[in-house]
Parts: sequence; structure tokens; C-alpha cells
Amino acid sequence: MTFDGKILARARAQIDERRHINESERARREKYVYERIPKLREIDSELARLMADVAVKSLSGGIGLSEAMSSARTKAEALAEKRAELMRQSGLPEDYTDGIYDCPLCRDTGYILGKPCSCLLAAYKSEAVRELSSMLDLGGQCFDRFDLSLYDDKRGKNGDSPRSIMSATYDFCRKYAFEFKSSSPNLLFRGGTGLGKTFLSACIAKVVSEKGFSVVYDSTVSVLEAFEIQKFCRGDGSDDSASRVRRYLNCDLLILDDLGTEMTTGFTQSALYTLINTRLMSGGKTVISTNLTGDELHARYTDAIVSRIEGEYVLLCFAGRDIRAIKRERGLI
Ligand SMILES: [Zn+2]
Repeated sequence: MTFDGKILARARAQIDERRHINESERARREKYVYERIPKLREIDSELARLMADVAVKSLSGGIGLSEAMSSARTKAEALAEKRAELMRQSGLPEDYTDGIYDCPLCRDTGYILGKPCSCLLAAYKSEAVRELSSMLDLGGQCFDRFDLSLYDDKRGKNGDSPRSIMSATYDFCRKYAFEFKSSSPNLLFRGGTGLGKTFLSACIAKVVSEKGFSVVYDSTVSVLEAFEIQKFCRGDGSDDSASRVRRYLNCDLLILDDLGTEMTTGFTQSALYTLINTRLMSGGKTVISTNLTGDELHARYTDAIVSRIEGEYVLLCFAGRDIRAIKRERGLI
């Protein structure tokens, strides 16, 4: 799994905020208790002094160390007992002023011995889903809402009805999303406008992202635009496009919507090749959707691009008539 720097920073900020809230609550409790039981403050300073003393003694070593340690321990236990008693007398829980942690495992630091804690990974996941939702309307798109009845079940010339084709495509996409892993294939969604390509890619994006993978969804036009800004405006406030390009290249799953709607230039051809090829080399997965037929793909793109797509992507066909027109006919919209 690749961490996205921007999303990781937000996840860490979430954990930091929890820690600050908990620490200020602990400080508030301590202040309250000291005001109410002034003797407690003396006990706490005495305990702190003992601890510091023990630390110094154990570092310097020398004769009589073990006696000094055991005497310090006895004193500390007596003080702790006295402290607990004072708390009980005031009707407060003994651990009232102890550290408060949402995650006791890492004490709200997000890391255990330098490794990300489960709480940080959970925060990362939720930030990643939020990031994706801002690019896509993820509210309404889920596999269970995909309606096969909107596809005609009359058989065409080749013997398959649009509904049976779409049923196979749907099953493939669903399995792909729920079983997404580093060995999953790349996909090419092919078919006319309004046949559910964007809907099913959004469903995949949502499920894969909820599994904790980094997913980026964007239109081909917008992706290539970021490459262009990064190339031609370097050092000119173009940080945002540079970080977008990094995300397009490095995310676990990139969904490149509407290939073929961009202006084709020498630059877009080379950027597209870089994108597709870099992701193939690094093992990142890509789902491309396009209205272009195989012949149109050949006519529009260089052989290098087309051969990568044809050789390394699984083709999924989208068939039928524009769903929006059918919904209108049926009075659904
Ligand atoms: Zn934790």
C-alpha cells in the first residue's frame, strides 16, 4: 500500500488534534483536583522528585544502588497509596488525573516503535475516502444500486443481449472491487455515452478506497492538464499540479475517465504514454473508460500507447442505449 503524503498529513493532524483535546482535558482535571485537594500537588511533586532521583542514581550506578532503589520504591508506594486515599475521600476515581488516550496502544501519537499504529491507518483510510468523495459524488453510487433492468434483454446480431453483456461486466467489476489486490489487472471500459461506465468506475473507486488503497479518480482532460501545467509552469506556483501528477503516477488505483475527449497534441500523447507506462512499471492499477472503438483508438494514439492498452488491459464492454433516455421514457427522471 502506498501512502499519499497529503492524505497522511491530514490523518496525522486528526490524531494530533485528538491528543491535544485529551491533554487539555487531563490538564483541566489536574488543575481542578489541585484546587480542591492542595495536598495532592505536594504529593505529586514529591513523587516526581523521587522518580528523578531514581533516574540519576541508576545512571551513576555505584555502591548501595539497590538499597537506594528499594527505599525509593517503598516511599513511592506509600505516597501513591496516600494519593489514592485522598482521591477516594473526595469521591473521585483514583485514575482521574491520569493520561487520557483515544488509543492507549500508541498514546495518541499514531506510531508504535516507528511503525504506523492501527488508529493512524484508520484515520488515513477515512481521509482517503473523504478525498475521493470530494472528486466524485460517492453518495449514490454503489453496486447495489446498479439497475440491470435499464438494459435491453433482446438479443443482438451476435447473440448476446445488452443486458447479458452488462450483467457479465457488472459481475466482473464487483468481484474486481471487492477482491482488489496488487495482482489485479488493469481495465478498459469501452462503450457509448450513458451506459454506466462512470457509475461502475465510481462503485469500484468507493469499494477499493474503503479497503484502504489510495484511489484517484479524474477525467483524462484534467489529468493531462496537470501534466501540462507541471511541465510548462515549473517554479511558478505550480506545486498543486506537481502533487497531483505525483498522485496520478503513484496511487494504487487510478481511474482515468473519458479517454478520447481531450485535445490530442504531441504533448498529450507523450504525457499519456508516461502515465500509462509508469503505472505499468510500478504495478499501480488503472481503469480507463472510453467511448472510442478499437479502430478509433488506433487512429488517435501512437502505437506505443495502443499496444500498452491492448496488451495489458482487460477489455470490458458496455452495451445498450443511453440510460438517461430510457429513464426519461419510463418517467424515472
Ligand atoms: Zn494508536
